[in-house]
Parts: sequence; C-alpha cells; structure tokens
Amino acid sequence: MSGFTRPVVERIVERDQSCCVRCGASVAGKERGFAWSIHHRRPRGMGGSRNPVVSGPANGLTLCGSGTTGCHGWAEAHRAEAIAVGLIVAQHGDPELVPVLNWTHGAAFLSASSGWWPVGTDYRGTDYLEHVAAERGVPADSAEYLRLASVILDGLQRLNGPATLERDLDAEEAEVVENSWNREWGL
Ligand SMILES: [Zn+2]
Repeated sequence: MSGFTRPVVERIVERDQSCCVRCGASVAGKERGFAWSIHHRRPRGMGGSRNPVVSGPANGLTLCGSGTTGCHGWAEAHRAEAIAVGLIVAQHGDPELVPVLNWTHGAAFLSASSGWWPVGTDYRGTDYLEHVAAERGVPADSAEYLRLASVILDGLQRLNGPATLERDLDAEEAEVVENSWNREWGL
C-alpha cells in the first residue's frame, strides 16, 4: 500500500529521473518495494491517504531500498536528520513549502505542479512564494500570503542551519530540531 495512485507514482519517478533523491542510485528497471520505493515525506496518519496534500506528488520521493533498507530505511531510522533536510515533513506540515536537500538539485522546493524548484544559497524564496500563491489563488498581502512567506523562509533557514552538515546530529541538536518543529506545528 503506497497511498499514491499509479499515475502519481509514475509522475514522481519521472520527476526524480528514476534516481534515488538522496544518493542518486538509479532505480530504472528495478523492483519496486525492494530496490526502491516511494517515501511519504509527511506520514499518512489516520485516513491521510484521502488528503490531496498527502497523496500528491510533492509528498512523495523516490528513494532506494524499502522502509528498512537503503535510503528509505535511513530516513525512517534517522528521523531528526531526515526532518532537517526535508525528507520528512511533520504531520501537519505542508510538503510543498518545505525544501528538500537532494542529489540532483541540492536544496530545492517541490512544487506539486512544476516539480523541483532549485534554490541557491542566497535565495529568498520570492519567486517560489509567488508561484505557490498563484497556484492556490492566494492574494498578495493577505494573511495567508504572509503565512506562506513565513513558512517558506523558515524552511530555507532550516536548510541553511547547522542541521544540514553531512553528519548525524548529536542528541542535543536533534532535540532542538524536534522541539522547534513540534512548537511550529503544535505537536
Ligand atoms: Zn539512495
């Protein structure tokens, strides 16, 4: 049970160029569920597969391995670090607004309609904010527009912080990441 429909899975794999998003391993022609799988960034939760945010392409990533092996297994076993790099989004988070560190593009947002949206180190998120607002019919300067801006900026700061170093977080850092995330989403 993936929770993604077949057309959405095909779109995700094509978007990710048949490669593991985290390590770049090719999954072309290999068996799904063993050599590779589609990872839910935001967990499905109760009845979550009926939620368009959860079952849409911005919530799915191609990862090598299964839920216990390869990069998919790594993400499940290193939850705090996976959150820090955008592979996991908390239960109430919006996968379209949380950038992902990935093999092909470096840091990038994942638009449901446009796919990967790479960001540079000094990127402020303005064009992506305008893209998401237009896609959702959110007027500029509305309260919702400001909320989108703040979540996008927060995601960028998260990726530019110490949590993006290529190492496992120590216990104290992991706790800081988890706590700030829990506060943000009222968990
Ligand atoms: Zn991998």
